[in-house]
Order: sequence, then structure tokens, then C-alpha cells
Amino acid sequence: MTKVTGLAFTGDRVAELREFEIGEPGPTEVRLRVQASGICGSDLHTYDSERGLRAPGTDTLLVAGHEPSGIVESVGSEVRDFAVGDRVLAYHILGCGNCYNCRLGYPVVCTSVDERKAYGGERNGGHAPLLLVEQRSLIKLPDELSFADGAMIACGVGTAYSALRKTGAKTGDRLLVTGLGPVGLAVTLLASTFGIEVIGADINPVRAQEATHHGASHVILKTGEEALAEIMAITGGLGVNAAIDCTGAAAARELCIEASATWGQVVFVGVGRSTITFDPTVQVIVKMLTIRGSWVSSQAEMQELTGILARRGVHPDSLVTHTFELADGVEAYELFAGGASGKMAFTF
Ligand SMILES: [Zn+2]
Ligand SMILES: [Zn+2]
Repeated sequence: MTKVTGLAFTGDRVAELREFEIGEPGPTEVRLRVQASGICGSDLHTYDSERGLRAPGTDTLLVAGHEPSGIVESVGSEVRDFAVGDRVLAYHILGCGNCYNCRLGYPVVCTSVDERKAYGGERNGGHAPLLLVEQRSLIKLPDELSFADGAMIACGVGTAYSALRKTGAKTGDRLLVTGLGPVGLAVTLLASTFGIEVIGADINPVRAQEATHHGASHVILKTGEEALAEIMAITGGLGVNAAIDCTGAAAARELCIEASATWGQVVFVGVGRSTITFDPTVQVIVKMLTIRGSWVSSQAEMQELTGILARRGVHPDSLVTHTFELADGVEAYELFAGGASGKMAFTF
């Protein structure tokens, strides 16, 4: 056991630095020396909750944070593919490893009620200097990429890549991205890297500026019919080949469907709760439209993405607008929960 200071959520929007004991790695685990740990919108669910972040069925506080990257510090007796000193990131959900979805590489949709555990969810996360990770969650981080790149890939950029891949968009295609928060910006960065023309849509001018900086060709600061008219003007009345909604808001989801060209591919990745109505005959059947959902990514996609980014010299750490030391973790979460825009991360 090693005593470390980690960031805990004690409930009702309170983060506290607490002492945690991190054990030696089990047979199939490694212990990471965490180097970067992202702060993500989905952390706010537990931060805001009355219960805070605790081990299931107990009062025991857990270390928060689900976007870790670091250096392997020690390995369990049965760890084969990772060694002390390896640079890695962790896919942030540990599945059972045996169910159909785990075998597809998607532990995010693991069907085991007891064994599906998120780092910084049902087991300790990355907001502490040490973290125990099962070897099957690890993805090697190429030397060309920074640890902050790794932390971004571990959640939002991996999510963006999987959504983009599901659209099948290729060089020269036009892609609408609704919602230019961290995931929307990551889609913008990746798509523009691949030669896809990005039309971003958001109502926040700061985010619009960030999208232009990350490669968007056009940014629309409108919603609804006005946004649709502008997209049609940009595309000569054709609409976009692909659209990714990163908001979960009804107006943006509808815009993705309405702005799509014939044979369009729409992917919903923003998890907001909203209901939309559309006429399948007009919007789907005669447009030959495909509408898909996407949640996080497969582990294979995350691994593939690290290689692509390293070879192309693309660094998603450019999405990070605020970095903090863990000692300032309480203030970091106050700022984040207060609605400050941008992407935040701890570096160690
Ligand atoms: Zn996340
Ligand atoms: Zn499983």
C-alpha cells in the first residue's frame, strides 16, 4: 500500500483532497504513475450528486477522474504485454472481458452488471498520482504523443474518432458538427486532418472561434431554420454528406437530419436527453439516410487513433485550455462546474 493524495467527490458539488491507499498491482494489473488526467463533463454527474463518488454499495470514497494517461510503474505477475516504463493511456471502462460486447472491444456496453466498472466511476480513477489498471484497459501511447494527448484520447477524442468513423466521411466530403464543446472540437480536429470539410454549429462565439482554430471551414452561430438555410447556402443546396450531433439537444439533432444530403450519414454522440420528431418518409426513406448512435469507442479504434495521430503529428492536447496541478483540484472543479468553457486537465 502506498499513501497518496487524490481528489474525491464527497457529494453535493464538493471536491476534496483526501488521502488514499493504492495497493500493489494484482496479477493482471499494472500500477500507473499518472502523468495527465482530464476533467470531463460526465464527471459532473457524480460531482453534483448527493452521494458523491463512492464504491458501489459502500460509503468508501473513490479517486475521481476517468481520462488517465501515465507511465507503468510496476506490473502484476501475469502481465505480458506491458513493462515498467511503458507510456500508456487507459480506456476508461473496464468490462468483464468475456461478454459479446467486450469481445467486440466495446467494454462501455459490457453486459455484466457486476464486472463493468469505470475508472473514476466504480473503481479508483486518475485524479491521484498512482492508479491501478487492468492490463486489458491499457493502450500504448506512442513517444510522439504527450501524456495530455493520451488523456484526451482516453475519452473525448476516442469518442470523436469512433463517431467520425461511423459516418464513413472521406476526403472532400462535407461534415456538419453540431455542438463545439470538447467532443465537437475533437471531431473538427480529426475530420479536418483527414481532409473533410467541417461546418460547425454552436451558439457560443468562443467555441466557434476554437472550432475555426481547430480546422472548421465554416462556423454557424445560429439554430433551427436559420442554421439550415446557411448550411444549404454553403453546400449549394445539396446538404452535408455526414453530420455528427455532439449536443443531445433536440434542435441540433433535427438539424443534423434536415441538413443531410441524399445518402447522408448521421451519428448521434451527444448524450443529452431530448425527443425529436421527423417524417421518416421525407427525411430518411427518400433521402436514403442512415442514422446511428455511438457511445465512446472500441478499444481497437482508440489504439488505431494513437497511431494515426503520432504519424500525422496531430496533437489533441491543443484542445486543453486550462491545466492544473492536483493541489488546485478543488478550485478546478469549482471553475468547471460553474460553466467555464474549454477543456481542463491535471498534469503531474
Ligand atoms: Zn470523459
Ligand atoms: Zn463484458
